[in-house]
Amino acid sequence: MNLPVRVRIAPISTCNYRCLFCEIHKDILLYPNRSNNVFNMDDLRRYEPILSAAYSLSFYGGSEEPLLNKYFGEFVAYLKRKYTPRMMVNTNASVLTENLSDILVENGFDHILVSYHAGTKDGYKYLMTGDVEKVDRNLAYLFNQKKLKRKTKPKVDFNFALQKLNADEYLEVINKAKKLGINRIILTRYYGGRNKLRDKQVSFEYDVEQGNRILDEIYQTAKQSRVNLSPRKSNYWKTLPDSVQWDEENYDKHKLCFEPWLSLHFNPVLNDKDCHYVGVCNRIELFKINYRIANLSKDMFNKLWNHPILQYIRETVNSENINPICKFCKNRSLATLRNIDEKRYAQIRDNTVEKLFHEFHTRYNSEPIEGIEILKGHHCPDERYIELTSNSHSNNPYSRSNT
Ligand code: SF4
Ligand code: SF4
Repeated sequence: MNLPVRVRIAPISTCNYRCLFCEIHKDILLYPNRSNNVFNMDDLRRYEPILSAAYSLSFYGGSEEPLLNKYFGEFVAYLKRKYTPRMMVNTNASVLTENLSDILVENGFDHILVSYHAGTKDGYKYLMTGDVEKVDRNLAYLFNQKKLKRKTKPKVDFNFALQKLNADEYLEVINKAKKLGINRIILTRYYGGRNKLRDKQVSFEYDVEQGNRILDEIYQTAKQSRVNLSPRKSNYWKTLPDSVQWDEENYDKHKLCFEPWLSLHFNPVLNDKDCHYVGVCNRIELFKINYRIANLSKDMFNKLWNHPILQYIRETVNSENINPICKFCKNRSLATLRNIDEKRYAQIRDNTVEKLFHEFHTRYNSEPIEGIEILKGHHCPDERYIELTSNSHSNNPYSRSNT
């Protein structure tokens, strides 16, 4: 089978921000000495057989800031000139330097998604821990260069996840989007996570009426300002039930998924240097690859892409005999369970991941590939995190008393 058409890769594994809503806080707690894994041009060339075959390349993954990688501009120039893939990056834009902007504009880099969850200086500093004025200056330079060079790319979108702590920031976010010439604001609904806001109930799931009223205000203001929002129509919150009955058979049999035929990602590994986790979707990591040891030839990527575990997922993802992780993914109560009982959600998820690997190993044999390890369970099970966050309230940054 041909190689994937969509490849996503993390070119570094650290971030310069500590956004309150980001799982970077969980990652720091679990991996206080996390590796940097700065990808360089030699590494990029190792991955070239798979990068060259892809139609689209995205640069992000986990709690990391891709533009902290000082070689990023070189990657773009090299790949765009040689293979012309469609390229995107998800960034906080704090280190989008003038030099890098010049390279992105010059080489027709396609899409920048900027995490922009507050628009005022104080709101941004509090929620995202950075300097919004610097971000605005960086973006203004990029837009100015586009204008001077008469280029239409890169397109720049804002990502704004609405919650109680940034509900009064939307006006400034819309104003900035208009002033800068942002393509659109991608409006998402924050639901929670293993982060500094855990236990604070900042999601509008806990106040649906107010949340939906603010959504209406945002759509009205954006329309008046002629700023594009995505989705085009308001995606309202619904009142959460008090409890959820988990039935693993209650999944949507008509929901088809083609990710295993299309996508492959390489995510940061925080406790091992020069390594990536590899998977086809965000539900599960399948392999760990040491990219400086593995022989990343075209033949090896073919073996990886046609590995029996990927064949197993492809054979079962849309079939009656569905594998455990896809059945979990298509469960009708999944989002509700995650939102009302994150501990139980994580337990079921971790058990399901283990079950998938167990079922695979009992049904299939696979040849070892040097430098590539097939995983056995969830790459970052919740157990250890719960243990760390429940042991000591005095030095636990996530305890209710501190948040
Ligand atoms: S900028 Fe992104 S990766 Fe960094 S802390 Fe914020 S949300 Fe997390
Ligand atoms: S878990 Fe299965 S159904 Fe869900 S996105 Fe991944 S491959 Fe698709």
